[in-house]
Amino acid sequence: MIREKSKGLLIVVSGPSGAGKDTICNKVVEDMKDTKISVSMTSRAPRGKEVEGVDYYFISKEEFEERIKNDEFLEYAVVHNNQYYGTPKTKLEEDINKGKNVILIIDIQGALKVKEIVKEALFIFIMPPSMEELKNRLIKRNTETKDKILERFKTAYNEINEFTKYNYVVVNDRIEKAVEKVKSIITAEKCRVDRIEEIYLNTKEEFIHEGLIDEEFENKELEL
Ligand code: 5GP
Repeated sequence: MIREKSKGLLIVVSGPSGAGKDTICNKVVEDMKDTKISVSMTSRAPRGKEVEGVDYYFISKEEFEERIKNDEFLEYAVVHNNQYYGTPKTKLEEDINKGKNVILIIDIQGALKVKEIVKEALFIFIMPPSMEELKNRLIKRNTETKDKILERFKTAYNEINEFTKYNYVVVNDRIEKAVEKVKSIITAEKCRVDRIEEIYLNTKEEFIHEGLIDEEFENKELEL
């Protein structure tokens, strides 16, 4: 018997702000019930309609540093020059062990750290269709000051050149298409031979059990 690993898959999704990572991943988990998004911790303040425990766990810089000392993060990074973002370890390990696929929506620095620690993780880069479109999306979001938009645009420019470090790249020109692509990648990865846990080629036992052969491998009449 062949079956998928009982452990879930760790999926890392990165891409510049405005590429559509959150929208895509939210739609993916709506459709794939065995897949969820990990909630990160951050020292930045909530923006717009963000909800504690849903979008992020919002904590102070001091608390974040305390948690770093206590080794509570799988990875963490300082993003956009001055704010901490990190992936809490305990819940993530629990979910993966229970068989859930967990998506981390994290920046490239964090992704590269995860790559060192979790060799079997899956890395997907979400690419905006063009820099022009990315700029328009960031402006349209209307959640940031002009300076912050410019900073995000600069970070995006640097990040885009790193996509070759990922296993897959998905261009988000149309959201539905991008969602389908991410779902297909996850499904295909779960079927990969090196992700298959147990291959019981117990043919002899199974055949004896089914009454197809006896101990000496002699064919028997099949009784139906
Ligand atoms: P935002 O402030 O727009 O919510 O996120 C800024 C950036 O931080 C995004 O690129 C996002 O992917 C990244 N990010 C969010 N959570 C984490 C995390 O836990 N670890 C790392 N390394 N980056 C994160």
